[in-house]
This record gives sequence, C-alpha cells and structure tokens, in this order.
Amino acid sequence: MKTEGTLEDHFEQIGEDHISSSEETPLRKDAFVLSDEEKIERINTNVKEIMLTLGLNLDDDSLKGTPNRVAKMFVKEIFGGLHPDRKPKSSTFDNKYKYGEMLVEKNITLYSTCEHHLLPIVGRAHVAYISKGTVVGLSKMNRIVDYFAKRPQVQERLNIQIVRELQKVLGTDDVACVIDAKHLCVNSRGIRDIESSTVTAEYGGKFKEEAVRREFLNFINLDTTF
Ligand SMILES: [Zn+2]
Repeated sequence: MKTEGTLEDHFEQIGEDHISSSEETPLRKDAFVLSDEEKIERINTNVKEIMLTLGLNLDDDSLKGTPNRVAKMFVKEIFGGLHPDRKPKSSTFDNKYKYGEMLVEKNITLYSTCEHHLLPIVGRAHVAYISKGTVVGLSKMNRIVDYFAKRPQVQERLNIQIVRELQKVLGTDDVACVIDAKHLCVNSRGIRDIESSTVTAEYGGKFKEEAVRREFLNFINLDTTF
C-alpha cells in the first residue's frame, strides 16, 4: 500500500487509528539510566514549559504545584509499570487440590493510558487459566494487570503482555484475557463517542478450542453482582 504525505503524517495516522507496532513496549536502551528522582526533576521542567507555552500563570497558587505533581504521577504512578523492578514478584504454589478446571478472575479494574494521546483508558480485564500443577494467588492476577496497565499502552499490546506474563509465571500456555475498556481519546475528543468501548482478547493453548473459550466467555457473562 502506498501512502502519501510525510513520515510525520504517517505516524500521526498510526496514532489516530490506534495501531500497535509490537508486543514489547518500545523502550530506549537508556530507559533506566536516570533515577526516578532525576526523571521527576526533568519532567517537572518540561511540564512547566508546556504550561507556560499555553499561557498559564504558574505563580497562581492553584497551578504552582502542578508540574511537580504531574512529574511524580508520571514516574511513580501512571507510568510506574515501565520499570522492571516494579514487576510483581511471582510467588506460585503447587496445585494441592488437583483442581483441573479453569479459574477465572473477572472484572479486574483497569486504568491505563493511551500511548497515542496520553489520555486514560478505563475498563475491566477478565483473566483465566487452567493449571498445569502451579497456581498463583488471586491478587497476583490483579497485580500483573495493573503493572502492565501502568505504561503508555495500546489495548492489544496490554492484552498480550498480560497473557505472556501469566503463561511464564504459571508454566502453561493455557491462559486467556479479555479486556473491555473505554478510551477517553475516543470518548472525550476526536469523534466524541461516549458510549463505545473496545474489546480485545488473547487466547493461549486450550483457550483456542471453541468449547473452552465458550466456557470462559460464559463465566465472564455470569451475573455475579452480590
Ligand atoms: Zn488515543
């Protein structure tokens, strides 16, 4: 396919269409040369610059603390999952009960950030696995979702990263994840579609079989409002 226009137009289009380029988060080689504190300092200066450029008065009491607040929030919170040191430690257990059926952890709250607009992605993840002898604590699945969500993301990549990590931790391909999320870049700007949400799915191993996948999707649709 031949595309017209400059390289910049090309990347602008990729971003607007929310196309992901790889299953790895594109990081620079020097991503972790600076300490968190050094990053906060630098981002603080840059956010200040953005706000000044927009014409805001940073002497105002309400705005004064914003650059530092945003810098800390970027490094420690919403993009905290970029740092491999923050990956949840994977404590696994033997499957003592010999439970051989599927385990589903549904409605995991998901807060992430669209990497094309740096606007929130808010939704739910549903994760399932079939044990091959190893199990994880239930909250571990929430933590893994949260860790990969705390990066600039595209939903497809986030979905794949969650599944790959759980496959590694559990030592089995039989892992699945469905994500249903709203992208504020779609809901609040551009096309401004409040109602739409985006659903993605990644099925590994046995979950590629129609019946197993169907069972998983039925569990997700179960009414479990207690
Ligand atoms: Zn976006």
